[in-house]
Amino acid sequence: MIEYEANEPAAASLPKRDIKTSLLRGLRQKCPACGKGALYRQYLKVNDRCPACGEELFHQRADDAPPYFTMVIVGHVVVGGILVLEQAVAPPTWVHLAIWLPLTIGLSLWLLPRVKGALVGLQWALRMHGFGGAEDEPVPDPGTR
Ligand SMILES: [Zn+2]
Repeated sequence: MIEYEANEPAAASLPKRDIKTSLLRGLRQKCPACGKGALYRQYLKVNDRCPACGEELFHQRADDAPPYFTMVIVGHVVVGGILVLEQAVAPPTWVHLAIWLPLTIGLSLWLLPRVKGALVGLQWALRMHGFGGAEDEPVPDPGTR
C-alpha cells in the first residue's frame, strides 16, 4: 500500500498557498508561484525551474490526469454539440465529420497544456509531491510486494 501521509507533517507547518490563484496561473501556463515565468519549455514539457523566480517545478507529477480531464471536457462539448446540431438541422454525416473532427483535435491540443498547467498549479498549492519541501517516498515496485 502506498502511504501519502508521509509528507504531511513537513507541509503542514508551512504557510498555506492560494489554490485559486495557483490554478489560474497554471491555466495561463505561468509559474504557479510568481505568475510571470513560463511554465513550459516545450508544448507539454514543464520547466525544471521557473525562469522568472527560480521556483522548483520539476516536482510536478501530473501523469495521466491532464489527458483524462481534457477528454472529459472535450467529450462534453463535442457530444453536446453533435446532439444539438442533429436535433436542430439533422445535417448529412460528412457535415458532422467536417465540423466535429477538427474541433475535437484542435480543442484537445489547445486545452491539454492549460489543463496540465492548472493541475501543476494545484499540486504546487497543495504542496503535493516535492512541492512541500520533503521528497516524495519512492513508489514501490509492484513486482517486489
Ligand atoms: Zn515563478
